[in-house]
Amino acid sequence: MAELKALCMKCRDANNKPTMQVMKDPKVEQNEKGRYQARGICANCGGNMFKFLSKDDAEALK
Ligand SMILES: [Zn+2]
Repeated sequence: MAELKALCMKCRDANNKPTMQVMKDPKVEQNEKGRYQARGICANCGGNMFKFLSKDDAEALK
Protein backbone atom coordinates (compact mmCIF):
# COMPACT_ATOMS: atom_id res chain seq x y z
CA MET A 1 0.00 0.00 0.00
CA ALA A 2 1.26 3.45 -0.87
CA GLU A 3 2.13 5.81 1.91
CA LEU A 4 -0.51 8.44 2.32
CA LYS A 5 0.12 11.88 3.71
CA ALA A 6 -2.45 14.38 4.78
CA LEU A 7 -2.67 17.66 6.61
CA CYS A 8 -3.01 17.11 10.34
CA MET A 9 -5.01 19.78 12.11
CA LYS A 10 -3.33 18.97 15.40
CA CYS A 11 0.29 18.86 14.28
CA ARG A 12 0.99 22.53 13.67
CA ASP A 13 4.21 24.26 12.83
CA ALA A 14 5.72 27.37 14.40
CA ASN A 15 3.32 29.50 12.35
CA ASN A 16 0.35 27.54 13.71
CA LYS A 17 -0.37 25.98 10.32
CA PRO A 18 -1.38 22.33 9.92
CA THR A 19 1.49 20.15 8.69
CA MET A 20 1.66 17.13 6.40
CA GLN A 21 1.87 13.89 8.36
CA VAL A 22 1.76 10.21 7.45
CA MET A 23 -1.69 8.67 7.70
CA LYS A 24 -1.81 5.31 9.45
CA ASP A 25 -4.41 2.68 8.56
CA PRO A 26 -6.07 4.73 5.82
CA LYS A 27 -9.56 3.57 4.90
CA VAL A 28 -10.80 4.58 1.48
CA GLU A 29 -14.48 5.33 1.18
CA GLN A 30 -16.78 7.10 -1.21
CA ASN A 31 -19.10 9.83 -0.06
CA GLU A 32 -22.64 10.47 -1.22
CA LYS A 33 -21.37 12.63 -4.07
CA GLY A 34 -19.15 9.87 -5.38
CA ARG A 35 -15.95 11.51 -4.21
CA TYR A 36 -13.25 9.33 -2.77
CA GLN A 37 -11.90 10.11 0.64
CA ALA A 38 -9.55 8.51 3.11
CA ARG A 39 -9.86 8.36 6.86
CA GLY A 40 -7.01 7.38 9.08
CA ILE A 41 -4.90 8.18 12.07
CA CYS A 42 -1.99 10.60 12.24
CA ALA A 43 1.24 8.64 12.76
CA ASN A 44 2.64 11.56 14.72
CA CYS A 45 -0.11 12.51 17.18
CA GLY A 46 -2.72 9.76 16.85
CA GLY A 47 -5.47 12.20 15.93
CA ASN A 48 -8.09 11.53 13.30
CA MET A 49 -7.20 12.49 9.76
CA PHE A 50 -9.25 13.03 6.66
CA LYS A 51 -8.32 13.62 3.04
CA PHE A 52 -10.08 13.85 -0.28
CA LEU A 53 -8.56 11.55 -2.90
CA SER A 54 -8.51 11.54 -6.65
CA LYS A 55 -9.91 8.41 -8.26
CA ASP A 56 -6.35 7.34 -9.16
CA ASP A 57 -5.19 7.79 -5.58
CA ALA A 58 -8.13 5.77 -4.29
CA GLU A 59 -7.44 2.94 -6.72
CA ALA A 60 -3.76 2.90 -5.73
CA LEU A 61 -4.68 2.45 -2.06
CA LYS A 62 -7.04 -0.46 -2.54
ZN1 LIG B 1 -1.05 14.84 13.95
